[in-house]
Amino acid sequence: MRENPYTDGSHSPVIDAATLAALRAAAPCLWTNPARAGAARASVPAGDKDISLADVKAARARFDRFAPLLIELFPELASSGGSIESALRAAPAMQRELALPQALGALWIKTDHSLPIAGSIKARGGIHEVLEFAESVALRHGLLGAQPGDAGNDYRRLATPQAREVFSRYQVAVGSTGNLGLSIGVMASALGFRAAVHMSADAKPWKKDRLRKRGVEVVEHAGDYQQAVAAGREQARQDPYCHFVDDERSLSLLLGYSAAALHLDEQLTRCGIRPRADKPLFVYLPCGVGGAPAGIAFGLKQLYGEHVHCFFAEPTQSPCFLVQMVGAELTGAGGNPSVYDYGLTNRTEADGLAVPRASELAAAAMREILSGVLTVRDDRLFVDLHRLAESEGLRIEPSAAAGFSGPELLLQGEAGKAYLARHGLEGAMQGATHLVWTTGGLFVPDEEYQRFHARGAALRTQ
Ligand SMILES: *Cc1c(COP(=O)(O)O)cnc(C)c1O
Repeated sequence: MRENPYTDGSHSPVIDAATLAALRAAAPCLWTNPARAGAARASVPAGDKDISLADVKAARARFDRFAPLLIELFPELASSGGSIESALRAAPAMQRELALPQALGALWIKTDHSLPIAGSIKARGGIHEVLEFAESVALRHGLLGAQPGDAGNDYRRLATPQAREVFSRYQVAVGSTGNLGLSIGVMASALGFRAAVHMSADAKPWKKDRLRKRGVEVVEHAGDYQQAVAAGREQARQDPYCHFVDDERSLSLLLGYSAAALHLDEQLTRCGIRPRADKPLFVYLPCGVGGAPAGIAFGLKQLYGEHVHCFFAEPTQSPCFLVQMVGAELTGAGGNPSVYDYGLTNRTEADGLAVPRASELAAAAMREILSGVLTVRDDRLFVDLHRLAESEGLRIEPSAAAGFSGPELLLQGEAGKAYLARHGLEGAMQGATHLVWTTGGLFVPDEEYQRFHARGAALRTQ
């Protein structure tokens, strides 16, 4: 058995003094995880359950079963055969903008900012959970054959008036900063469910408008994201016909995200990229509660073991996953610390990442899988948003820019260099792939995007 550095005092501390000081001062930093294990375990704990590669494959199979129905509901999916996916692309021009030396690997982008239907990474987890719920209701009401995978089970049957009448008896509800609400609300109402989205006061007006136009009930709450979730959860508890999507506790969400790993694997293979000892894969994932990046990191770890290195990226004022991962050591008691406990404000323009407390489920799953967490200032988000537009012609929202400072921190910072040395990677960087995950942007209104872009431009000429 490996020793667990979280409980064994003889190990180096889980966070060093300099990184802790940067965290408290809201200065950008890179924390690396001393508990990261090399090889993948067959299963890892996630809440009440252990999850394995079989669960990742089951989520992928569910998306595949629904594909014919999704084409009917969303004509824009016809060209992809009903698959909700994004392109993988090389980013040589952005690599030059970031001044990342070719000798230390190649920059690639997974373009989830362009995912159809939701316009963000939430299309993966959010839609998966709505589909899983729809499938369970359909089975219970005899709308499908006894087993989901039965041959002859044509999921297009779920678009018939008879099926929609059944779905209309149920409500799907969610608490959200915006993007999760968009994905859940749009998919739930497309299937015929009643849909309610509980939003915090800081949610963007255009997101509320988009939902209301689709017949989704938007419930506004005065407090922060956490309070919107709590209110929604409470309301749902009292209603047996209501399914509440719980961003902080949902395994279905996490597994929906994890299915991305299987598709990415096919894309990497087509591009001739096969992670191995002399071709390490570094993945930089924007992190809010942690469900999306943890799901993806879990899936990738099951496929690539020690050859994949997943780093989460958080705003300096909202590093909830970082405080969750180091909190156990600092308080001695584990628990679920918040960024407020560290004197931080949780105020950031990266609204998809403005979360004060991490998902404990995601953190449990990441204990030995996560390579590290980096933090980034809002100004840097706008600079990278602008750089990406100018160099690659990609249009992303501020949250989606969080990963771009990752490679620099890893390759040039002290903590990053120490990580590479510790894992014997210094000689392998020529063959490295740095994959930045861009997580949202497609549906940001032009006027709003122009403001982001102008702010980035102004910062760069200062
Ligand atoms: C939600 C979101 C994330 C992070 O997902 P979590 O599951 O909250 O960690 C990243 N980027 C964008 C644009 C998002 O909306």
